[in-house]
Amino acid sequence: MQPSTSTAAPLNQPALQNQSPLNQSPVLTHDEIVSRDPATNQEIGRVPILTQPEIESMIARARAAQTAWVAVSFDERARIITRARQIVLDEMDAIATLISRESGKPVAESVSMEIIPTLDLMHFFARRTAHILKPERIALGQYTIAGRTSRIIYKPLGVIAIIAPWNFPWAIPLGEVVMALMAGNAVVLKPSEVTSLVGLKIKDVFTRAGLTDDLLHVATGDGMTGAALAASPLVNKIMFTGSVATGKRVAAAAAQNLTPVVLELGGKDPMIICRDADLPVAAHAAVWGAFANSGQACASVERCYVHESVAAEFTKLVVEATKNLRQHHGTNEASDVAAMSSERQAQIVDAHINDAVTRGARILTGGKRNHDFAASPDDAHLDDTHNDTHTNLFYEPTILVDVEDAMLVMHEETFGPVLPIKTFRTEDEAVRLANDSPFGLTASVWTRDLKRGARLAAMIDAGTVTVNEVLYTHGLAATPWGGIKQSGMGRTHGKQGLLELVYPQHIHTNRLPRFADLWWFNYTPSAHTLFRQLARRATNGSILQSALAFPAVVRRFLEMRRRK
Ligand code: NDP
Repeated sequence: MQPSTSTAAPLNQPALQNQSPLNQSPVLTHDEIVSRDPATNQEIGRVPILTQPEIESMIARARAAQTAWVAVSFDERARIITRARQIVLDEMDAIATLISRESGKPVAESVSMEIIPTLDLMHFFARRTAHILKPERIALGQYTIAGRTSRIIYKPLGVIAIIAPWNFPWAIPLGEVVMALMAGNAVVLKPSEVTSLVGLKIKDVFTRAGLTDDLLHVATGDGMTGAALAASPLVNKIMFTGSVATGKRVAAAAAQNLTPVVLELGGKDPMIICRDADLPVAAHAAVWGAFANSGQACASVERCYVHESVAAEFTKLVVEATKNLRQHHGTNEASDVAAMSSERQAQIVDAHINDAVTRGARILTGGKRNHDFAASPDDAHLDDTHNDTHTNLFYEPTILVDVEDAMLVMHEETFGPVLPIKTFRTEDEAVRLANDSPFGLTASVWTRDLKRGARLAAMIDAGTVTVNEVLYTHGLAATPWGGIKQSGMGRTHGKQGLLELVYPQHIHTNRLPRFADLWWFNYTPSAHTLFRQLARRATNGSILQSALAFPAVVRRFLEMRRRK
């Protein structure tokens, strides 16, 4: 069964049953998810929670469709991706509004951080996949003289399960869908229950672009739906993006079937401001890197280390820029920062700020929900029996100073609009602080001296380190994305990400099949002599040395010819 949605509900619709106690979009009923705008609590649609048999049926149909898709040329696959891209372009505003309504983020970011990167990615992989996956010859050295050739061809894996989070509900899964399809796979996508409608919109775009229906399924549902997908022995690879805790559960389930996994997990990404950094630019970057999407990006700046000699000036600039941010509903084009996506996430922010303040940190701005957005009278119309359950998800961008390493905000992922600033004295200290984390997703270094930037970048343990840049490289289709340590394993995007979606098949050919190999049976004295000579002379890459083994080769060859 394909999931279906209802359309956006009118403002004055009747109260829903089973309202979430935390006003956390979505609300689960016994067999469906009610998706809600986190800013207003309005219902924006409903989707079914699929059962395990429905998931298994999807995977089976995807597998059947994939066998035909393998035979479709890269050009034809690219044509479908390009048509889908055009639909996204044509419907950009409606898609951006849907993303903002369901996730809460500013519509500016729905375009700049979700739609633009996917348009770029669709173009990139439509054009480049055939080139990246073209067969490769392997140089075999002296085996070439013996008539051997080796080639690698890249073959699709089959059915890819994509389990996606709510924070970039469009860009993360859509990018992976495009890469998987271009590589010749079928996909079953499980969007977060918080952003199911965006997941279904991805399906809608590809269906209208002419993609065979069974090549892309969207399995709406909750964590149990994701668990059913991860546990299926019929899935050939799992691309999971989400929290460390769920990532470990997915990896454990996958291990039962030895299903390979790519895990894109959390981060605690550091930003190092050297004494020679351009402070106004670095401050602007820190504010955007920390507060874009209300800090709910895996690569958000979560720790800022600034050289003590420039700390006062830098902090002043950061606080000024933060106070200038405009907080509105995500669909308002004047909004810089909007609502967080869920009360669960906002409560983690509360806990981290409380812990920091209790231990001596100072709040320079923010530190609380924005009271301008207390549950509005409109929301009472929506649900007058449960109005008290509608919490305020507009969190003020928060700057903390006097922070210590032991504080939660300095070592656990906050995933909210909080920027703690700490000083350092030496570059070595800055690198040690940056690396003192269980995470290793991204980091940034800010300096006018590009050599210093490159040197410090190479000393930091993270999947991506940017010099005088922050946060945005997930938006670069050509570059690999992924982390080390608790930030996960494997890569998405770029050549490395595409190679996760195929397997390299080695095809080795003996072009002189009329002769038996010299290392085959029987192991006569001349065979022993030859093997010893080869061990000494033919394994160090020297053609000259190998040539010295030639007489033993000839003796063995003639011996084998005689036996034949
Ligand atoms: P979760 O781990 O809670 O959920 C991620 C996905 O897994 C959702 O689709 C979720 O479904 C599903 N899921 C939940 N339980 C299970 C299960 N037992 N088995 C299989 N799937 C399951 O993460 P969030 O959605 O809260 O996302 C936030 C986290 O994601 C942050 O830690 C962030 O750092 C990380 N992240 C990492 C990125 C990266 O590229 N490294 C990018 C973006 C986010 P449902 O929502 O319906 O419960």
